Amino acid sequence: MSFKYTIDGNGAVSHIAYAFSDVAAIYPITPSSTMAEYVDEWSAQGRKNLFGQTVHVAEMQSEAGAAGAVHGSLAAGALTTTFTASQGLLLMIPNMYKISGELLPGVFHVSARALAAHALSIFGDHQDVMACRQTGFAMLASSSVQEAMDMALVAHLSALKASVPFLHFFDGFRTSHEIQKIDAIDYEDIAKIVPWDKVNEFRARALNPEHPHQAGTAQNPDIYFQNREAANRHYLATPEIVEECMKQVESITGRKYNLFDYVGAPDAEEVVICMGSGCETIDEAIEALNAQGKKYGCVKVHLFRPFSAKHFLAAIPATCKKIAVLDRTKEPGSLGEPLYQDVCTVLREAGRDDIKVVGGRYGLGSKEFTPTMVKAVYENLEGEMKNHFTVGINDDLTGTSLKLGEQFNSAPAGTVSCKFYGLGSDGTVGANKNSIKIIGDHTDKYAQAYFAYDSKKSGGLTVSHLRFGDTPIRSTYQIDAADFIACHNQAYVTAYDMVSSLRDGGTFLLNCQWDESELDAQLPATMKQLLAKKHAKFYIINAVKLAAQVGMGNRINTIMQAAFFKLADIIPYEKADEYMKAYAKKTYGKKGDAIVKKNWDAIDIAISGLVKIDVPESWANATTGAEPVKVKSTEYFQTFVEPILAQEGDTLPVSAFDPTGAVPTGTTKYEKRGIAVMVPEWLKDNCIQCGNCSLVCPHACIRPIYASEEVMKNAPEGYETKPATGKEFTGMAYRMQVSPLDCTGCGNCVQVCPAKEKALVMKPLDTQAKEEKNWEFAMTVPEVKGIENVATVKNSQALKPLFEFSGACAGCGETPYVKLVTQLFGDRMMIANATGCSSIYGGSAPTCPYTTNEDGHGPAWANSLFEDNSEFGFGMQLAITQRRAKLADNVRALIAVDWCQPAIKEAGQEWLDNMEDGKKSKEAGQKLLAACKDGIDLTGTEYEAKWIENGKVCDCEACT
Ligand code: SF4
Ligand code: SF4
Repeated sequence: MSFKYTIDGNGAVSHIAYAFSDVAAIYPITPSSTMAEYVDEWSAQGRKNLFGQTVHVAEMQSEAGAAGAVHGSLAAGALTTTFTASQGLLLMIPNMYKISGELLPGVFHVSARALAAHALSIFGDHQDVMACRQTGFAMLASSSVQEAMDMALVAHLSALKASVPFLHFFDGFRTSHEIQKIDAIDYEDIAKIVPWDKVNEFRARALNPEHPHQAGTAQNPDIYFQNREAANRHYLATPEIVEECMKQVESITGRKYNLFDYVGAPDAEEVVICMGSGCETIDEAIEALNAQGKKYGCVKVHLFRPFSAKHFLAAIPATCKKIAVLDRTKEPGSLGEPLYQDVCTVLREAGRDDIKVVGGRYGLGSKEFTPTMVKAVYENLEGEMKNHFTVGINDDLTGTSLKLGEQFNSAPAGTVSCKFYGLGSDGTVGANKNSIKIIGDHTDKYAQAYFAYDSKKSGGLTVSHLRFGDTPIRSTYQIDAADFIACHNQAYVTAYDMVSSLRDGGTFLLNCQWDESELDAQLPATMKQLLAKKHAKFYIINAVKLAAQVGMGNRINTIMQAAFFKLADIIPYEKADEYMKAYAKKTYGKKGDAIVKKNWDAIDIAISGLVKIDVPESWANATTGAEPVKVKSTEYFQTFVEPILAQEGDTLPVSAFDPTGAVPTGTTKYEKRGIAVMVPEWLKDNCIQCGNCSLVCPHACIRPIYASEEVMKNAPEGYETKPATGKEFTGMAYRMQVSPLDCTGCGNCVQVCPAKEKALVMKPLDTQAKEEKNWEFAMTVPEVKGIENVATVKNSQALKPLFEFSGACAGCGETPYVKLVTQLFGDRMMIANATGCSSIYGGSAPTCPYTTNEDGHGPAWANSLFEDNSEFGFGMQLAITQRRAKLADNVRALIAVDWCQPAIKEAGQEWLDNMEDGKKSKEAGQKLLAACKDGIDLTGTEYEAKWIENGKVCDCEACT
C-alpha cells in the first residue's frame, strides 16, 4: 500500500535507504546532511529496516572516514549506505575505487552540488558526481522528489543484483530540499521485490574467519591488468538488471521508468538530452510548446553509468535530426562536457552521422533553469546550432550564451503560486513548511515548496516559493508569475522589487506598521505603479503589533500564516484555522500549554488585523514615494554589489567578474541593511566610558569616538560629546556612536552596560534617523595613535575594528572575538579561514566585512576547504617565512654596499634587528621605507658614472 507523504527529496531518499541499510556511516555536508539526520532520528526512534533491525548509524570524522567505514562494513557483510555531496564526495573517491573493485553492493545517495573552485558554492549542479564517473560506481539520476524515492529503490535493488555499487544522485537543494506531496512506498511492498537470494549471497561472501579469504592484495605487472578486466561482465549486465528492477518498482507503484525516458512529440526532430531536475522543467515547457504546434522531444537520462548505447539509441525517436545535450557541469579545457561526449560517442559508433549534436552548460551552482531558457535551447537547434553554449547567463567575454526571448510561462493552468519574502530566522520558512504540510496532508492537491536564502547567517532575505495544483507540479524553478505575494518585512519595500512577479489581479500582502494614510509616502513609486497597473488586491497587516498583543514578542509567523490562508483561499478558512491550531499544538506542545495558547490567540487575532487597501488609480503614474537609503559608496559597489543585494545578480554579465573570484575588502559598510526593529540610544550623562558595549557588539556598530578640538569643529549639529577620560585621550571629546542602519538589534550592548543608570536604551529604529549623520562624521574622525597599552577593554576599543557589519546572526558570540583580533593585529594579518559559520559571515559574496585602516592596511582573507584548513594556513606561513627571509637577505645586501646612504643603512639594520617583533618591525619598516622613498642618491659619488653606464654599480646582490 502506498501512502501520501509531503516530504523533501532528502526525506524521500532516506525512507528507502533506511529500509536497505544494516549500517550507515555518515558525515554531514550541505545539502545532504538531512538524509543522515533522518536516518539517525529513525534509528533513535527504533524504526526497523527490512531485516527487522534498527540501522546502526556511525558518524565519522570526515567523508574520507565515512567512505572507509562503508568499505569495511560492506566487506564484513553489512549492507551499508552513506550520504554526501560536493567535496565530501570527492574525499570518498579513493574508497569508491576499492568498493567497486571488490564488487560490493553499497549505495551512496548524493544531493549533487557544485565544487569549490574560484569560490565555494553550497548549491546544486553535477560537478561532484561527474568527478566520480570513472570510479566504477553505477550512476543513477533522479529529477524530482517522487523519482528520488523511486530511483533510490531501483539503486538498492540493482546494487544487490548486479554486485556493483551505485551512486544515486539528484539535484542539491532543487530536489533535496524541495517539498512535494508524493506517493511513498510501503516497506511491506518493498519486501516483496527484494532479491533475498542476493542478500544471502552477499552476506555469505563477506570476510569471515570461519571460511576466510583475503581481499585487497598487491598485484604485479603480470596480473593486475587481467584482473582489472575480470569484472567486465558485471558492468555489461548492469543496464538490463536496472531495467528489470525498474519494472519491479513499477509492479508495486504503477510508475514506469526506463534507463532513458523519452517525453514529447513522437515525431520530434529536435531533441534535448538532460539529467536531473532540469528534465522536469523541459518536460513542462515542451508540453506547452508542443501544444502551440512545435514538435520537440526530450530524453531524460536515469542510468548514466554504465552508459547503455543500445538503450539510448532506442529512446531517441526515428525522426530525430538534431540533438542538444545539456550538462550541469563544467570541465575547463575539455572537448565538451561528459554527457555531450557520451552522446557524441554513441552516435558516432552507431554510424548515426545524420544526427547533428551540440552541447551546452546550464544551471551551475543552482542557477535558475526556466522554461524561457528551455525555449532558447530548442530555438538554437532550429536556427544557429551554436555548440558549447551556455544558457541562463550573459557571457559577454567568450560569447557562449544563447539569447533568451520574451519570458515564457509554461505552468499548467490552475496552479496557484505563492511567494513569501521573509527575514532569516523570523519563522517565515517554518510557517510555510507547516502550510504546505497542511495543504498536502488535508487536500487532494499536489503541493510543492522551495526555499531560497541569501548568504547572511540570519537576518538575511528568505523567499519561499509555494505551488498548489490539481496536476503534478514539474516547475523546478522559482516562481516568476505569482497569484499571491506576501512581504513580511516593511524594510523590503525599498530594497527589493517584489511586485514585478505578481500576476495581473494577484494579491499582495504587506506586513507594516504604517496605516493606510501613510502608504503613499512609505511605498516607492515603482511599487505603487506596479500595484496599480497589475490591478493588485492589496492588503496590509500590522503583525508586529498583533504579535505583541498576544504576548508573542516580535514572532509574526503565525499571524502571517493565518493571513495567507485567509487571502489565498486554497482551502476553506475554517478548515485552515482548525489545521493550523492542530499543527501549533503538535509543534509547541512540548513547550507547554501557555505557548500553544499564544499561537492559537495569534491565529484568532490575525484576520481582524487585515486591512484591504483600494489602490488609487493615480498610483499607476506615481513619481514620488519612499527611496532606498542612499550611501556614499564606490563604483564597484554600485555596479557589482548593489544588483546582487537587490536580488538582480542574475543580470550581471561574465565580464563583471574577476576570473580568480577575488573581491575587494571593506564593502559591508555600504550595505546599511536597517534590519533592526529596536536599536540602542546612548545616554551621555550615564556613560562611564568603559568600552564594554563596543567590545561585545558582534557587528561593530557601536564605537567610542575620540575627537580633538580641531576635528570637532566639523561635527554636525546634535553630535553631543563629553570630555574623554583616560590619559591617552586627554583633552579630547568622547562620544559612544551607534550606527542604527548597521545594528541588528541584539541588545548585547545594553545588557553589558555596567553604568549605575544604564547609558544605553533600546529605541525604535525610526527614532534614530539623526544618528546616521553623526555616524558619518564619526567615521571621518582620525584614529587615536600611539596608545601605549592596548590590552585593556577601554583602550582596545579606541582602535578601529577591521571586521565590521558581517552577516553573522544577531547577538553572535563569536564575532566580537574576531573583531577584537582585527583591532589588535588586523593591519598585519592574513587569515586562513576554516569553512563553517566564520567563512560564511566572513566571506559570503558579494560584500566583505574585513576592512582597512587609514593606511589601507587590513586583514587579507582566504578560505580553502573544510578539510584542509590547518594545512592551508601552514602553507601561508611557509610562504611568508620564505619571502621574509629573502627580504632580510636583500636588506642585508643593500646595507652592506659602501655606496648605501647612512640613513638607509641605519633603518635597514634597525629593521633586521627587530624583524621578529611585530610592533618594532612595523616602526623600523616604516623608517626604512621613508629612507628609501627617493631611492639611493649616487650624485657626486664615484659610482655615479658606473650607474649611468651600466644601470648598476657592481655585481653585488643589491645591484643585481
Ligand atoms: Fe551592536 Fe547589538 Fe548593540 Fe546593535 S544592539 S549596537 S548590534 S550590540
Ligand atoms: Fe558607556 Fe555603557 Fe558603553 Fe560603558 S557600556 S561605554 S557605560 S554606554
